[in-house]
Amino acid sequence: MSYRKQLPAKRLGLGLVATALLVSSFSFSGALLSQDSPTPDQGDHESHARANNEAYAWANNPADRNWRVELPVPVRNLLTLTGAGTTRRPDQVDNDPASGLALAGSTAMFADATGSALWPNCTPIRVTIDTVESSADSTAAALATRDAVTELAELTGLEFTPITASAHTAGDDPAPRSNTIQIIWVDRGTGLLEDHELGSAEVWHLEVIDRLIVFQAVVLLSDEILTKHDPGTAARTASVRTTLLHELGHAVGIGHSADDGSVMYPKLIDKASVTTADQAAFAYAGSRGC
Ligand SMILES: [Zn+2]
Repeated sequence: MSYRKQLPAKRLGLGLVATALLVSSFSFSGALLSQDSPTPDQGDHESHARANNEAYAWANNPADRNWRVELPVPVRNLLTLTGAGTTRRPDQVDNDPASGLALAGSTAMFADATGSALWPNCTPIRVTIDTVESSADSTAAALATRDAVTELAELTGLEFTPITASAHTAGDDPAPRSNTIQIIWVDRGTGLLEDHELGSAEVWHLEVIDRLIVFQAVVLLSDEILTKHDPGTAARTASVRTTLLHELGHAVGIGHSADDGSVMYPKLIDKASVTTADQAAFAYAGSRGC
């Protein structure tokens, strides 16, 4: 059973003009395990860097004007959107969200000169969940997944179908279909995730005329997410939310943030939250017109 070996074959079978496979992972940090030590473990950083493709700067596409989320003034300012109450720094121009996001440390999963790779907002995105391969509490996993997808919808304005169970069982080909985010819970130590990786995301895109369209993503989540803290504790609620939102952020095209307070920082840190820049990045990820 190896999801990653099967997926590229499926990808090629689609006969797409251009695709790219991007992998990002998320691991426990030294800062989480030892709160007194603000110094991240250098070894972890290096292994994480190897697991990831390079960071891409956000790039604007004229189609990304379909803002679907009501944005507070600070977020509008960061995105350089105009409107009541917004202000502009002297060196900023209006409607240049890519530059605003870059200044805030946010990156894209993938972008080129035509823009960032984003979901197209043409039809609700199918979301499936599979807990078959994992010994994680399937009820807890399903609830955590549902909550995270609900928050993702609120932050991005993207529409998702109700989460359905994957139609495969262990051993079947779990390759995702187009227009799908496939969420798969796996056990730690299965080889699908590196040691103490909490999750990973693989995102596929293709070039359609003048823009890069994300069309499928596979998110692996470790059962360790649910067992790291005792059920019912605030620490568990926060770390589960942060981890799932981080991987789902990748699934909608958001790369890592240089801000260690961001939910998109490469490491899970207790203080991680959805920052103003994160709000901006999630909203931007949902702003692509069909
Ligand atoms: Zn990540």
